[in-house]
Amino acid sequence: ENGDDDVTLKILYCGVCHSDLHTLRNDWGFSFYPVVPGHEISGVVTKVGKNVTKFNIGDRVGVGVLVGSCKTCECCEQDLENYCPRIIFTYNSYNPDGTKNYGGYSDMIVVDQRYVLRFPDNLPLDAGAPLLCAGITVYSPMKYYGMTEAGKHLGVAGLGGLGHVAVKIGKAFGLKVTAISSSPQKESEAINRLGADSFLVSNDPEKMKSAIGTMDYIIDTVSAVHPLLPLLSLLKVNGKLVTVGLPNKPLELPVFPLVMGRKLIGGSDVGGMKETQEMLDFCAKHNITADIELIRIEEINTAMERLAKSDVRYRFVIDVANSLS
Ligand code: NAP
Ligand code: ZN
Repeated sequence: ENGDDDVTLKILYCGVCHSDLHTLRNDWGFSFYPVVPGHEISGVVTKVGKNVTKFNIGDRVGVGVLVGSCKTCECCEQDLENYCPRIIFTYNSYNPDGTKNYGGYSDMIVVDQRYVLRFPDNLPLDAGAPLLCAGITVYSPMKYYGMTEAGKHLGVAGLGGLGHVAVKIGKAFGLKVTAISSSPQKESEAINRLGADSFLVSNDPEKMKSAIGTMDYIIDTVSAVHPLLPLLSLLKVNGKLVTVGLPNKPLELPVFPLVMGRKLIGGSDVGGMKETQEMLDFCAKHNITADIELIRIEEINTAMERLAKSDVRYRFVIDVANSLS
């Protein structure tokens, strides 16, 4: 039921994030089955509660990774609901009343208006949906860690859902962008389609060696356990590496290159509601969307198998309305 502060969405599209796969497989050890994944949700408003002032029936809207928080803590007051200790996630998460949340692989969702985003007019609902997780997850650390100075050199490790959007956002900030990938076959697309300036194969020692000490920033989106040393070596003195990937086991931290080069490693988790809206508006202004493979829900198991093998160009999006018709 739609409460007084709630917006009901008819879901039209939902992106398939690697976090959905981690959760389905209980990679992180806190999956509460049954799980309905999906936190890159777009659709139209079909109902609003009496206190809802931000949205009207028919509006094009989105819902991302979170649907609730305490609204009173220091984080919530600073528009950092994503770091609220009482954050409520879109799925695999419980509400204060004990009910459980189910995500966007579904035809409808009811969400408090504070956690609903407005889709700018020129942002398509299908290719725009992945921005609600993949987009904000790379945009937010770039802003927070000061990785937006035009002309600087950004490395993007892992060319999947998050990584390919990071390449596009990096270019929009005026950065020189190098994709760092374990998939040599992604090279020409990275450069010709996504707009990267160059491409490094992470398991080619010769190429990696030639790029040592050339990058100012790296965003690491790799979903599996991987060595940090080769990435840290690519950074200049004072370089910054921000990891947003969430492998199921800890990564080894090589302290020597950190210490000797005054380098910094940080992390970042999606973004607050205000910044997520800012990111959507930024992407609309710069014509940034995800490159998507549109699937029907019947194809989800095959899509998950392909996602596990890094075989997606570059985000699966479920065409929810067409799946059910
Ligand atoms: P994705 O589409 O599967 O992309 C991950 C990429 O990592 C792959 O395409 C692949 O790129 C690379 N990769 C995978 N396995 C690898 C391996 N063994 N060695 C080296 N590279 C490998 O996943 P995604 O949806 O972008 O998500 C990436 C990670 O971020 C996941 O762990 C996800 O849970 C996490 N995440 C975090 C946040 C946050 O707020 N911090 C938000 C969303 C997702 P190449 O083929 O180019 O090597
Ligand atoms: Zn996600």
